Amino acid sequence: MERQQEFVLRTLEERDIRFVRLWFTDVLGTLKSVSVAPAELEAAFEEGIGFDGSAIEGFARIYEADMIALPDPSTFQVFPFEGGLAGESARMFCDIVTPDSAPSWADPRHVLRRALAKAADKGFTFYVHPEIEFFLLTDTPADGTEPTPVDDGGYFDHTTHAVARDFRRLAIQALEQIGISVEFSHHEVAPGQQEIDLRYADALTTSDNIMTFRHVVKEVALTNGVHASFMPKPFTAQPGSGMHSHLSLFEGENNAFHDASDEQRLSTTAKSFIAGLLRHAPEYTAVTCQWVNSYKRLYAHPMPGKISEAPTHVSWGRANRSALVRVPAYGKPNSARVEIRSLDSATNPYLAYAVLLGAGLKGIEEGYDLPPGSEDNITSLSNVERLAAGYQRLPANLAEALDAMESSELIPEVLGEHVFDYFLKNKRAEWEDYRTQVTAYERTRYLTL
Ligand code: GLU
Ligand code: MG
Ligand code: MG
Repeated sequence: MERQQEFVLRTLEERDIRFVRLWFTDVLGTLKSVSVAPAELEAAFEEGIGFDGSAIEGFARIYEADMIALPDPSTFQVFPFEGGLAGESARMFCDIVTPDSAPSWADPRHVLRRALAKAADKGFTFYVHPEIEFFLLTDTPADGTEPTPVDDGGYFDHTTHAVARDFRRLAIQALEQIGISVEFSHHEVAPGQQEIDLRYADALTTSDNIMTFRHVVKEVALTNGVHASFMPKPFTAQPGSGMHSHLSLFEGENNAFHDASDEQRLSTTAKSFIAGLLRHAPEYTAVTCQWVNSYKRLYAHPMPGKISEAPTHVSWGRANRSALVRVPAYGKPNSARVEIRSLDSATNPYLAYAVLLGAGLKGIEEGYDLPPGSEDNITSLSNVERLAAGYQRLPANLAEALDAMESSELIPEVLGEHVFDYFLKNKRAEWEDYRTQVTAYERTRYLTL
């Protein structure tokens, strides 16, 4: 820690950096930032930077409003491309503590740290590799009409010869410059839709990386005269933006999900972990898919041939893209992993990975049995067929998701009572606000009645 702090201070001096941004994330997943001058940083490492917690979503009840942001020097990163007149800048993520130095229960980073510590007690490290989808748009209409995608490309299109055609390369270059490794990138199915997949890292690093990614991608887009949006489903007639995440547990150097002697190459640990993800899915969906709009994405298209690649039911399979959990084909032992497909690109990654890990660990603790996998395309089955096959439905809207979360024993345990209560209250208000709107759809359809 001391060493890392010294490294930070020395780098700032050597590179003549005048702005250090201290970042943290609120309960809803919004990035918060306060800039400090390098001269203040030594004190900030010791005492932190105070702020008014009651002004930040989910942070404090009024009587404990004073909060302190303590920079984590291991996350120090210079942003060389944000130069311009002001010169280079740098950032660090912060842990949030109360005035008596206890970790804040409202800090999403702390929620994830606690979940990771629980895994560590059992000898596990938790790794995540996210596939992040998002839209590039030429505008963001303030009146709520549909925006215009930058291109009319489709899945894996090489180049779209449209504005921002170099976008992915520029964004990836920027990410690599700040130490975020990108594994794959391609054009996604919908016009203007992009996907960039980050290299796997431990879940805390990945969550920090996702927060950084959203910021950098939006900045690179603006530099190119366009807008990036991580909204789960901006277009009625196009797929939404998911954030499929590949999860694995390691015991030391070894992937705990791999078992060469098993017919499916899956260890008992892996099977119980998947069973946990399946059994608790309705309870954690409010966290992985936290907005009213998220549920417009988790939808099975009723028209034959129109495949929705977002899950609507609880199942797992190997090559099944309608499943909630997919187990990719066998590869090297250490790449054994499970892909969860419900998360969307506007989730709070710290909270989402905490609840997913919590559900998987519960499965391991209780020795849950893995139900048989399925290669059915659930999207194309009728409701009666789904019922007969025993597929449990994922919540169909935010209200259902909140009901399932509220009746859960597991989720308050993982999130802590404070975040759990705040989240439910805030999201119930979001739902009430939404459901009392009379929409253009209704007027168009019913005004002539
Ligand atoms: N865009 C799809 C979703 O909303 C995922 C497409 C894919 O399979 O990558 O989840
Ligand atoms: Mg994709
Ligand atoms: Mg995927």
